[in-house]
Amino acid sequence: MADHDDNPFGRGGMSAGEVRRIATGADPMGTWEQVQADVITSVEALLAELGLSAADLPASLRAAADFPLRVPRSYAQRIAPGDPEDPLLRQVLAAPEEVQPVPGYGPDPLAEAAHTPVPGVLHKYHGRVLLVVTGACAVHCRYCFRRHFPYSEHMPTPERLSRALDWLAQQTDVSEVILSGGDPLSLSDRRLSALIEALAAMPHLKRLRIHSRLPVVIPGRMTPTLQEALTSARWQSVLVLHANHARELSPGLGAELAPLRQAGVTLLNQAVLLRGVNDRLADQVALSEALFASGVLPYYLHQLDRVAGAAHFAVPDQEALALHRALRGRLPGYLVPRLVREVAGDEAKTPLHEAL
Ligand SMILES: *Cc1c(COP(=O)(O)O)cnc(C)c1O
Ligand code: SF4
Repeated sequence: MADHDDNPFGRGGMSAGEVRRIATGADPMGTWEQVQADVITSVEALLAELGLSAADLPASLRAAADFPLRVPRSYAQRIAPGDPEDPLLRQVLAAPEEVQPVPGYGPDPLAEAAHTPVPGVLHKYHGRVLLVVTGACAVHCRYCFRRHFPYSEHMPTPERLSRALDWLAQQTDVSEVILSGGDPLSLSDRRLSALIEALAAMPHLKRLRIHSRLPVVIPGRMTPTLQEALTSARWQSVLVLHANHARELSPGLGAELAPLRQAGVTLLNQAVLLRGVNDRLADQVALSEALFASGVLPYYLHQLDRVAGAAHFAVPDQEALALHRALRGRLPGYLVPRLVREVAGDEAKTPLHEAL
């Protein structure tokens, strides 16, 4: 679990060129994934770990070749052994339905390709820009809307990231930069620190936001160096976690996030509404309660994006609205996430009742 990255900052400073060099990846230091390499990548190994056999599960267990199984052992340990219906297992193990084409489900459901001013940048909404800083994720989630994302075209090579930073430096109407991916926290602390420093040098940027599943999936990811990078920059930071089920939150998460909270980092969560994972009222109540206990507020509950291979996770809109109504009847308003659908071309996430 040790992260051997040293914070290169705060001890004598670096030239802008050096910061840029590290920020964009021209640096031999290892990534978080290399540090945290205890990952299960075969269906057989995962089932063995859980005391399941192929006979317990539907016939086709082959994950799509372009989106292979990937489960860190730290996450596998939170899956209930012997339960083929486990909501965490369902998020990572390919279902046989995955390979069946479903009308309306395609490779790029959000038409992201149309919002790419330069490779590695998504600019859809006023004032916010999303920077794809890596294609790597610690875990492969079967419902992922970027599962067919052409990372090879957008792969943040040093040259591309450098060009993206140059572009961003010119966009004076952008006030918030969002690090995304892949999972941005799969980058090494050294990379992240340099990236954040390079961004902080752009005076028009007021806020930094990171969307990540890593703090949920890999306990220990919030290293002191990362905390320092998130709290020492001149701006306010927002960390949006991605957890879909209460059992995904490790008991130590709250303690790990506490220094961020104390330093004023806003901690939010977004979830995707998933059939068989979190589509019952009790699941949603438990998730909101568990998030709050860890110091995190629910932000969005997304209707599934219609990405090919994920149709079996879809919850019909009317059912989603009824669930959300019931949730409002059970929890204080601040623990009820906004139920939204992303509609290609809309200027923001759309409340589901407006998207019908
Ligand atoms: C979702 C998203 C955002 C952030 O939207 P908020 O409503 O501000 O959370 C920004 N850019 C892109 C491309 C997005 O998909
Ligand atoms: S961590 Fe996020 S980007 Fe990565 S596979 Fe899961 S949902 Fe997709």
